[in-house]
Amino acid sequence: MNEFELIQNYFNWPLSDPGIELGIGDDAAIFNLDSGYQLVTTTDTLSEGVHFFKNDSPEDIAYKSLAVNLSDIAAMGATAKCFTLALTLPKLDEIWLKQFSQSLKQTSKKYNVSLIGGDTTRGPLNITITMMGVVEKSKAIKRSGARNGDNIYVSGEIGDAALCLKKINAGERPHKAELIKLNRPIPRIELGSALKGIANSCIDISDGLEQDLSHIIKASKVGAMVAIQELPLSQSMIKYIESNDDWALPLCGGDDYELCFTAPENFNSEIINIAEFCKIKITKIGVINDSKDLKIKGYDGQGQSYQHF
Ligand SMILES: [Mg+2]
Repeated sequence: MNEFELIQNYFNWPLSDPGIELGIGDDAAIFNLDSGYQLVTTTDTLSEGVHFFKNDSPEDIAYKSLAVNLSDIAAMGATAKCFTLALTLPKLDEIWLKQFSQSLKQTSKKYNVSLIGGDTTRGPLNITITMMGVVEKSKAIKRSGARNGDNIYVSGEIGDAALCLKKINAGERPHKAELIKLNRPIPRIELGSALKGIANSCIDISDGLEQDLSHIIKASKVGAMVAIQELPLSQSMIKYIESNDDWALPLCGGDDYELCFTAPENFNSEIINIAEFCKIKITKIGVINDSKDLKIKGYDGQGQSYQHF
């Protein structure tokens, strides 16, 4: 099987989005943009040994590669449309490829995004996806929009993915529900979109709340006060903290892909409605101030959020 057969066999499925004028098969793809919309694009790489374990299932790897990119588009309040895939494989393993491509196809159908191109090469296993989305002109929610007095909110619960990873690294076997938090994060697409016109700033929590919220305050030239007692935690995380007092895990653990956003107090009831509509927990964890620093009440540890280098 050569490269072209590989693409044909595993990655060239029929697309239904009428916005795609040209998908896989030419030098480049063509996607039509409606007038009044802007293109929003992001790239995320998943590497073996860094972002997933050697023996992780191809289905989980495919799902997560898409989910982390969808999460970035969601954090902008945009709607994901199409993506390209750069796949580096150590060898041509047809069983692996079949499982990977089936999961990728299934996940892309679920989230209504189309694979429109990519590249394949040989090397250590690495999956790079570039996701493209659209948003009404000037409506994207940026990191730089937080204002003094904004409430700070977080969706879902944080730290569970890091807790699961900690258990694996300690040789423990996490429960299935815990593994789902690590391997199958849910991109908060509906929430991101609903926050347009309401949130002043937004980021997805990929590297840890402490670090990702720091990105918001730096970009917005503001400060923030957050209280650990307000953090939304799962029962297993509460149990973990009761015995370890390790607040660094929910504060600095990454891979949750929940949204952290800020909004003025007068939108609070609207945000409660959005939480109900999206069937998702949204918790107020603090307030933006003009201090230029991030203060975490009840936590005196140093930042231990995920660093790539
Ligand atoms: Mg992000």
